Amino acid sequence: MRNDSRILKLSSREIEKDKSLSEKERKERIRVVERMLKEKNIEKRYSKLYDMICQYLDDEFINKNICGFSNDICSRRRCMMEKKIEKDTYRNGCCHSYKENKDCEHLKDGRCSIKNIACKTFTCPYLRLQGKNYSVNKIYFAKYFFNFRQKLYMETTYFVDKDVVMKGILKRR
Ligand code: SF4
Ligand code: SF4
Repeated sequence: MRNDSRILKLSSREIEKDKSLSEKERKERIRVVERMLKEKNIEKRYSKLYDMICQYLDDEFINKNICGFSNDICSRRRCMMEKKIEKDTYRNGCCHSYKENKDCEHLKDGRCSIKNIACKTFTCPYLRLQGKNYSVNKIYFAKYFFNFRQKLYMETTYFVDKDVVMKGILKRR
């Protein structure tokens, strides 16, 4: 595990390098990292980071309408409809499994009812071809707080809630 001064140094360097940010935004980002480093209980720190990653990804996908949802149909499914690719439904994007012919059990009233980072970072090949891809490594406040194994684990452990993923993160320290 990296020590705190190393995390601050690497994060600050990364933030300073980002020329798309204003001076004010840079300072704000460094403050976020410092705030996180103040939490010395590692389990609490991971838990806060986990929630922040989920919030960041939710905001990102909603604000930029990454999946292009309209009336429960995403851009990938619309493309399938246009190409007349036959499916049982086109609703609910990849929260509907074509393999199992049903919606994910965690989909409640059109929303995901759990906090899962793998699902939240996932983009289908259709979106990735448009350059839309997400990873924990691209999130400034998370990149240096987790090691490679933790990040890989978070991004590949689908369909389970935060408590399960948290155990895996702690195990991979
Ligand atoms: S990732 Fe692709 S298939 Fe899944 S909801 Fe978004 S656009 Fe649809
Ligand atoms: S767990 Fe994943 S597939 Fe299931 S509803 Fe949530 S985001 Fe969709």
